[in-house]
Parts: sequence; C-alpha cells; structure tokens
Amino acid sequence: MSAKYTGKCLCEEGGIRFTISAEPIDPVCTCYCGHCSKGAGGLGQVMVAFPEESIDIESGKELITTFTFKNTDSGKPKDKMFCKSCGVTLWTAPEHWKQLKQLLVRTPVLDGGIDWKPTVELSTSKRAKWTSSVAGAAQQ
Ligand SMILES: [Zn+2]
Ligand SMILES: [Zn+2]
Repeated sequence: MSAKYTGKCLCEEGGIRFTISAEPIDPVCTCYCGHCSKGAGGLGQVMVAFPEESIDIESGKELITTFTFKNTDSGKPKDKMFCKSCGVTLWTAPEHWKQLKQLLVRTPVLDGGIDWKPTVELSTSKRAKWTSSVAGAAQQ
C-alpha cells in the first residue's frame, strides 16, 4: 500500500516517523474533555480515526509508549500512545475504537494536519469559557 499521509513526533533526530495508507474513517473531531485538554496542554485535541493496519511505523517503534486512562467519561479504559523521548501523543485507542481496530490519530502529528478542520466538537460543556465553537461544526 502506498502512503497517503506522513507524520512524525517532535524528536529532531531518531524519532517516530510513520505513514498512513488509508483515508480517514470518520469526520475530524475535536474533544474538550479534561483528559484531552490536559493531554494537549491546550484547549483540547483534534483527531480522526484511521484503520490501525493502515499505519506503518517507519522508525522509532521502540519509542512508542502506552499510557492507559481508567477514569474516562465512558468508564472504559482508553490507551494513549506517545513518544517516550519527546512526549508527543500520536494517537489514542478508546475501547470502542480498539474493538474496531482503529486508532484516533491526533491531526497535528500529520504533515499538514494542523489545517484539518474539525466538523464535530465533543465534550463542548467542558470547552474553555474564553473560546468559541468551530464555525459550522456539530456540537456534542
Ligand atoms: Zn519523539
Ligand atoms: Zn476527550
């Protein structure tokens, strides 16, 4: 399969490099829940699902570390995979997506992904009071 997308962590040398050979499955979404804002160190996360098998780690596989949240809103465990060298989160696997064999890739780790606009906003009740919704995005 050929690469449609490429991505990397923040490491300048010897970090995680990956390619994705599929198109995203669901719309791009952003989540403002406590885990996502804290994990991002910002307003929240922006992410999109890809089939796990379409993600090919080209280098730095040994750096990928998993942290499992247990006190999630759904009550089900959620895995977060990050680079143990630079700390960047690559993707998460909440229980539902794990069963579907999909990963929720954080769009900013994709080359050009910063411009992928969310069309769905999650946990909007927890969105910072000083910001506003994404124009045209569904509110959940
Ligand atoms: Zn890194
Ligand atoms: Zn969240």
